[in-house]
Amino acid sequence: MNGKVTVTGMVIASMNLSESDRRVTILTKERGKISAFARGARRPTSMLMGCSQIFSFGEFVLYESRDGSFNVESADIRTSFAGVHDDLDKIYYGMYFCEFALALTRENVNAKTELNLLYAALRALEKGMMDRRLIRIVFELRFLTENGEMPETYRCMKCGKELIDEEHVLFNAKEGGFICMNCSGGMSGVPASRSTVYSMQFIVSTPLDRLFSFNVADNVLKELEAVRRAHTGTYAGYHFKTEEMLDIFSEQ
Ligand SMILES: [Zn+2]
Repeated sequence: MNGKVTVTGMVIASMNLSESDRRVTILTKERGKISAFARGARRPTSMLMGCSQIFSFGEFVLYESRDGSFNVESADIRTSFAGVHDDLDKIYYGMYFCEFALALTRENVNAKTELNLLYAALRALEKGMMDRRLIRIVFELRFLTENGEMPETYRCMKCGKELIDEEHVLFNAKEGGFICMNCSGGMSGVPASRSTVYSMQFIVSTPLDRLFSFNVADNVLKELEAVRRAHTGTYAGYHFKTEEMLDIFSEQ
């Protein structure tokens, strides 16, 4: 397969190669992540300058060579999330989301869901209505859910009892979800209140167009953050470079 391909996607990584060239990784709807050369993209007069920057979203025309490498020929950029680029804190969050997507997506597989989720998370960052720490929690837990690592949020992992009436439960990432108080004796895990369980149900099941549309009380945010850390730590298995930057911001 070689020749021209048109894909819809977002630049999730961009690296300078030389005085004039860049290498980009685009998360595409049709074919997962694709690495491509953007030749001349560092020259101010280049058509490719804008489209080779991180967060650039639109239609990319790529040329696939016989050896399987790609070159960006042109791009029709629909948004580059200017409202994220304006704020250093937002940039780090956005870069972290891109790094997360880079680590957990593959090549040559449809990545429509992951791309839509990334797009929605960046839009939420841009809008600024939702706590950024919560945007991150929702993005990560939903990303892992779509990747086949959905935590069980409706029933106790041990006895199967519905959690709806439980005042307090425990989240155990290795078990894959919540444990009721009756079954939790001697187990380690993250203590969680009913509001946290409810928020988790919302995160794993709400349609994407309404997913980034809520805020929670501080105590719930703390519990959700601990659940996120446990779940991502167990199922993502990466050390994210940009995470350290977020930790610095979160302490402020
Ligand atoms: Zn139980």
